[in-house]
Amino acid sequence: MQTKMLINGEMVEGTADPLTVLDPATGAEICQIPQAGHDQLEAAVRSSAEAFETFRQSTPAERAALLLQTADVIETHQDELAELESLDVGKPWPSARDDEFPLTIDTFRFFAGAARTMTGSAAGEYVAGHTSMIRRDPVGPVAAIAPWNYPLMMASWKLAAPIAAGCTVVLKPSEITPLSTLRLAELLQDVVPKGVLNVVHGAGPTIGDRLINSPEMEAITVTGSPATGMAAMRAASQQIRHVHLELGGKAPVIVFEDADLDAVAETIRYGSFFNAGQDCAQPCRVLVQDGVHDKLVSAIEAEVKKIRLGAPKADGTEMGPVVSSAQRNRVAAFVDRARPGVEIVTGGKPVDGPGFFYEPTVIADVDTAAEIAREEVFGPVVTVSRFSDAEEALAIANAGRYGLASSVWTAHVGRAMSMTSRLRYGFTWVNTHGVGTPEMPWAAMKGSGTGCDMSVFALDAYTSIRHVMVAH
Ligand code: NAD
Repeated sequence: MQTKMLINGEMVEGTADPLTVLDPATGAEICQIPQAGHDQLEAAVRSSAEAFETFRQSTPAERAALLLQTADVIETHQDELAELESLDVGKPWPSARDDEFPLTIDTFRFFAGAARTMTGSAAGEYVAGHTSMIRRDPVGPVAAIAPWNYPLMMASWKLAAPIAAGCTVVLKPSEITPLSTLRLAELLQDVVPKGVLNVVHGAGPTIGDRLINSPEMEAITVTGSPATGMAAMRAASQQIRHVHLELGGKAPVIVFEDADLDAVAETIRYGSFFNAGQDCAQPCRVLVQDGVHDKLVSAIEAEVKKIRLGAPKADGTEMGPVVSSAQRNRVAAFVDRARPGVEIVTGGKPVDGPGFFYEPTVIADVDTAAEIAREEVFGPVVTVSRFSDAEEALAIANAGRYGLASSVWTAHVGRAMSMTSRLRYGFTWVNTHGVGTPEMPWAAMKGSGTGCDMSVFALDAYTSIRHVMVAH
């Protein structure tokens, strides 16, 4: 197991207390990984700042070549990296490789192209006798914080865009699931110029906190919980830093009477329980029009009962464990608090035995104001609530604190357009849910964050617009 960090071009063992990494399918220890000491974190930050002075002057073509090479390294080692991901997060095999690595790899390839296509206003004489031009320059060294649900895919989102923009990065993967990122760091040691990428390991409130508060870091990018987003904003407010946040979600799935209910039920089966429901865009809050409520609940029940729960490598496993005992307790507590007054259609309990398994769960008759309908559970739980017309559906969907993913299901194009224009979410799918592509933004509104990952718009977080004026 690769447990060293990448600091200033060298693979180094952490000097602070180790953290235990567990296999969520068995609860057994995989390994212990020493955290970065404070001097090691400072070395990573210093290395990033020093490397920035050179890397910011690299050409877009050089950065594109680096990103393409990174994509090739991941592609070449995808079996090994996906194995680590499956072991560390409990993801079913071969889904851990086949469903996640194409997008992870393509993200680097997309940003290799994006690095060469930055555009701006035309240069010109906006004041007589003076020529003005716009420059878009890298913002500076970036502190990048990644979550545990898709460790390497989220690392790719946190790395590819800043590197395309000419920034250097100190990346901290989640302390719960660091294995694939630490191995990638080793694989990239001789690919990425010294200091352009540093990878440190450690707990959020200590190492993560020191990283985002380091004066040398000019930008902070976080994918994680709202609490971590707030910590990043507090850190940024102390020193005036750029902040990019992709946080939690509570995606409504708005189903009208004319929708294809079988398609909705199949999407719930595959989309809501993929990665054991630990997905920021998880279709978790079904809002269904009165007339088809019972029919949809039955269709979802039939689909969800087919889900095969099991160990990642067991034959036919569709859903694995949740990532940790704490996460399972959190999910169970949400369901237990919701239990009075709702109908548990299927699931609703932890699974006895080793590992952190929780049954795929569907809950109907949920009051739209209830905690379980408003707060992010981040586990294999879907709620179903009713609405009578479009206005009511919009009012319910837009009332929450989150604004990440949403979907609308209807055969009526005009209604779909009207709904999508009025939903306050970073992205809205129509008659599907969860499909992503690097060309399109993974965007956040309201309490789900600021800015976006993927697409050329992701470069906004890592570039500063500048005006250069030349007197004739
Ligand atoms: P988390 O916020 O607990 O941890 C995320 C990262 O933040 C970890 O690396 C952690 O060590 C670090 N961290 C924690 N406290 C910190 C602090 N005070 N200072 C600096 N770093 C700190 O989130 P998680 O439990 O790993 O991930 C789940 C959350 O992430 C969910 O809310 C989910 O919706 C969200 N998420 C969002 C997206 C998106 O694209 N919007 C994608 C994946 C996950």
